[in-house]
Amino acid sequence: MYDVLIIGAGFAGLTLAYQLRKKSSDLRIAIVHDSSFPLDDISDKVGESFNEIGAVYFDQMLGLKEFMKERYPRKLGMRFFKINESSYQEMGYNNFTPNHAFHFERGKLENDLFDLVKDKVDFYLNHKYLDFETVDGEKHVHVLDRNDKSSRTLKAHWLVDAAGLKKLLARKFDLTHRLPLNHSSVWFRVGGGVNVDDFLPLTSDNPFTTENRSWSSIHLEGVGYWVWILRLSENVTSVGIIFDENMYEFQDLATWEKTKLWLRDNVRVLMDYLDEEQFPIMDFRILRRFATQSDYWVSDERWALVGDAYGIWDPYYSNGFDLIGMQNTILTELILAERAGQEIHQRIQGANRFISDVMRGFAATFTDFYSRKDRWYYICSKYNVDMAVYFPILATIVHNSLESMFVDEDPVFRDRVLFYLEEGGGIYFQLIQLLASDEFKNNGVDGYDYMPLNADTYHAFVPEMDIPYHEKERVFPILEKNCNLLWCVFHYLKSGRNYMDFIKNGAYFAITEQTDPERYRDNPDQLEADLFHSA
Ligand SMILES: Cc1cc2nc3c(=O)[nH]c(=O)nc-3n(C[C@H](O)[C@H](O)[C@H](O)COP(=O)(O)OP(=O)(O)OC[C@H]3O[C@@H](n4cnc5c(N)ncnc54)[C@H](O)[C@@H]3O)c2cc1C
Repeated sequence: MYDVLIIGAGFAGLTLAYQLRKKSSDLRIAIVHDSSFPLDDISDKVGESFNEIGAVYFDQMLGLKEFMKERYPRKLGMRFFKINESSYQEMGYNNFTPNHAFHFERGKLENDLFDLVKDKVDFYLNHKYLDFETVDGEKHVHVLDRNDKSSRTLKAHWLVDAAGLKKLLARKFDLTHRLPLNHSSVWFRVGGGVNVDDFLPLTSDNPFTTENRSWSSIHLEGVGYWVWILRLSENVTSVGIIFDENMYEFQDLATWEKTKLWLRDNVRVLMDYLDEEQFPIMDFRILRRFATQSDYWVSDERWALVGDAYGIWDPYYSNGFDLIGMQNTILTELILAERAGQEIHQRIQGANRFISDVMRGFAATFTDFYSRKDRWYYICSKYNVDMAVYFPILATIVHNSLESMFVDEDPVFRDRVLFYLEEGGGIYFQLIQLLASDEFKNNGVDGYDYMPLNADTYHAFVPEMDIPYHEKERVFPILEKNCNLLWCVFHYLKSGRNYMDFIKNGAYFAITEQTDPERYRDNPDQLEADLFHSA
């Protein structure tokens, strides 16, 4: 009888096993996985880049930063381009954010994670999960041994579906539904280092440096699509397209030959470069209409869905591993609390509320987003608005309060954190509506062709990391201030001013340094007069 049985040794399942074992040496843990290890470094999977919460998950919760630093290239934030007839516009970072985010060959990372846990949990490799039923409170889990086609039953207290897009448990309980996004993807790996400096070279008025530009998560932006370019190592680059099927026919990208033509029509400069360099194309993959979500993810019946098994909106911000980090961290606390004899019913409700709040945020982020990307100023504003809630609200909570919310039964603390998550979400919804409005569309602001971002802003948004449990209340003044910061952004944008000036002038730093940011909430004039440093 296992305490926890995980289905699927992908990214979500392996990290959950590692995290559970790190926190408890006596839990009995098993993973049922339908194939074997090692994988090829370049596996058929997609998802090759962390965002900041995923990075902190690896560092703070799993303690694997040094391990990652030795093995994977560090990511220089996100970098956005809009390519015009004979020029381009660019927004991105010159410096690294304080956390270490990475790009990685997915097979290599899963092999590494497997090596880290293989002696610490029971693996049933080449075993396929078939079904389960509950008997006297225990889960009887039926699996097929693919080696000799025999079947067997494993018993477990908790059952976790980490089997990805197959959504085994969500389908069993009829919980999964399609999200209102018609986004599909094709991607391919290139045998060589695709270097943006070679096909979008710096111009004299462009303030970026060449040193690390190509190690960013590159986004080539178009209406209804974007192209990612991720350098996974010196010799391998991942290139992919996410496109809205309401605007582009799937058939036009259904094969590698067609995708080449599509790229030639839509992102000619990239396709010309790939042709010229004659990089070998290592693979070509397709995933259609991937946006789905389940009604909830953790049940009082002691089963849970993590990672793609639960849901995904869109990979624009590499949020998949953020979601996995949040779910695994919460689930670990729930499992350990129950093991310690605590009642966890209310915490399960809190866990479902937390993740569904996060998913509501993603819904606001992605609904009707791709069709609006014709305007560079919209692209720049949208990214900065999204980050203005992601860092100050979500990342602040995850880095400081996520474990504290679930480790003990403290409903007052948990509800207060959820209050701020929802308060921040409420302001964010208003910001998104504003960005989608005619008022914003017709405000005549152009922004800047080259928009440098300051990675140190992270410190302004998330001034503390890992606040200890006994001081957990210290997060509230930060969240209060950060909600005010969001209101400042809202009123600044509403006034029709250039939001890029707000950023260039270091207003985020200036506001968070103030003892009374409320004074600027709905007063952009005052804000400019008091706080703008020289650009
Ligand atoms: C186009 C695209 C791009 C993306 N890019 C990013 C990105 O850059 N960054 C990011 O954070 N996220 C990204 N994501 C999200 C990404 O998919 C997830 O973060 C990640 O791959 C989810 O991992 P997982 O462990 O949940 O699932 P998987 O990695 O799919 O793992 C599930 C495992 O379960 C096994 N399995 C399946 N069925 C069974 C069974 N019956 N029995 C036993 N085992 C089984 C499978 O073999 C598999 O290995 C992207 C998603 C898409 C669609």
